[in-house]
Amino acid sequence: MHFQNFLHRAAVLAICGMICVSSLAAQAGGNDAAQKTPLVALTFDDGPSMTNTAKILDVLEEHGARATFFVVGERVAQNAAVLQRAVSLGCEIGNHTWNHKKLTELTAEQIRAQLEKTDDAVFDATGVRPHLVRAPCGRYGCYACRALDRPVILWSVDPRDWSYAADRTGNTAQNRETVIRAATENVRDGDIILLHDLYAFTADCCETIVERLQEAGFSLVTVSELMASRGVRLQSGKTYRRVPTE
Ligand SMILES: [Zn+2]
Repeated sequence: MHFQNFLHRAAVLAICGMICVSSLAAQAGGNDAAQKTPLVALTFDDGPSMTNTAKILDVLEEHGARATFFVVGERVAQNAAVLQRAVSLGCEIGNHTWNHKKLTELTAEQIRAQLEKTDDAVFDATGVRPHLVRAPCGRYGCYACRALDRPVILWSVDPRDWSYAADRTGNTAQNRETVIRAATENVRDGDIILLHDLYAFTADCCETIVERLQEAGFSLVTVSELMASRGVRLQSGKTYRRVPTE
């Protein structure tokens, strides 16, 4: 009986020891685990839109997610409230030029004017000055990048939401599922996903995109958070499609 008691106690102690050791290991590895949480950056171009950006912000807020909005300067003043809300939710505002001109068709002086005017509009609306640029249609060049004097953020995942959104009849469940799958399947840690908040179509896809990415284990962060968390220091004049891999 005594011996059985001893065995029982020994077993309990051994189990306690295992639990303590494993919980210590979990604590020690806590930071590593946090760093290894897969991250992805949703980005929305061409807005802001009072209705569609607002709907996307509702989804982000509800799901504890953040995104980056590359805004067109001429749309900012009339949609200032929605941008203020984006900033208050921890989202990032980037510069997508004043009126969506392709940088390759502008002089260096025109590029600077497009960016500065947009910076000023965003600052007036939100108190925050953008420091990232997305080139309209992804069109840039070495010459344009030198004129930009700031990092250019492109993308690694293009679900082509715009191709269904331009025509209102394209907002069908089947087309939404096509875009949602393109935005969520084959996504890797460090990817940057291109979407457009100008369209009701994209706003209608947003909740499922966010939910499926989160279900797959991704945290949704801004572009600057994504890069910083991976130790990437963004450099002016350089382009980034995702977190660089060695
Ligand atoms: Zn655009």
